[in-house]
Amino acid sequence: MLRLEGVECGYGRIQVLRDFSLSLGAGDTLAVFGPNGAGKSTLLKVIAGAISAWRGRIDCDGADITRLGAEDRAERGIVLCPEGRRIFTSLSVEENLRIGATPLRKSLGSAYAGAVREGLERAYAMFPVLRERRDNSGGALSGGQQQMLAIGRALMARPKILLLDEPSLGLAPRLADEFYAALADLRTLGMTIVVVEESAGRPLRLADRGILLRGGRIVRDGAAADLMSAADLGAAYLAEH
Ligand code: ATP
Repeated sequence: MLRLEGVECGYGRIQVLRDFSLSLGAGDTLAVFGPNGAGKSTLLKVIAGAISAWRGRIDCDGADITRLGAEDRAERGIVLCPEGRRIFTSLSVEENLRIGATPLRKSLGSAYAGAVREGLERAYAMFPVLRERRDNSGGALSGGQQQMLAIGRALMARPKILLLDEPSLGLAPRLADEFYAALADLRTLGMTIVVVEESAGRPLRLADRGILLRGGRIVRDGAAADLMSAADLGAAYLAEH
């Protein structure tokens, strides 16, 4: 479903990912963790096309997407839910959700309106508080609710590959647990999920596989269950949870 080969990228003269290779099958869930500045967000951005690869190649579902922009990649089902929510605070909850569906417009044509209705129902079923607050402005939601809205909006595009950047950031522990339970339900739909967090506990319980990044490189890669019990991952990432 997704393959990165020898990808190098960064910002201006700052290189972040170095000779980065990774391969994920359909329905795989990958947890990416590591310290601040390791390159976790950068990895998601280069997959989503928010930044371009300097070198190397990215394939999605058998097609070379290295030179495609973010919009084309979204149309192919690669959807990034960015760190910090980035919701439209002056638009209503429902308007924010509807915007998430726009990558489907071209491919669905006359079926688009029905897909939007279905998507709204799915988002509201997953996060009932969004239904209650559908007419409120995004800016009037609590931090946790805004995070739910950001994820709901990402799901509106029916992602094949869902990229989540620190989804539990700012959520109270109970909400974060609920949110991860909802993600586990998404796995049953066959979606490929890449979830970035600074600490590994919750994402490793969800994922099949985990990678630890440091300095733009993978320093550990293994089955989630093995990483959960690997003493050498260090207290810094596991002890927190
Ligand atoms: P964090 O949890 O702090 O976001 P991260 O692992 O996601 O950590 P990245 O955001 O990918 O790290 O950042 C990797 C490196 O790239 C850092 O050194 C960061 O300062 C730098 N960086 C990130 N975004 C930019 C940008 N827009 N312009 C310049 N440098 C950037």
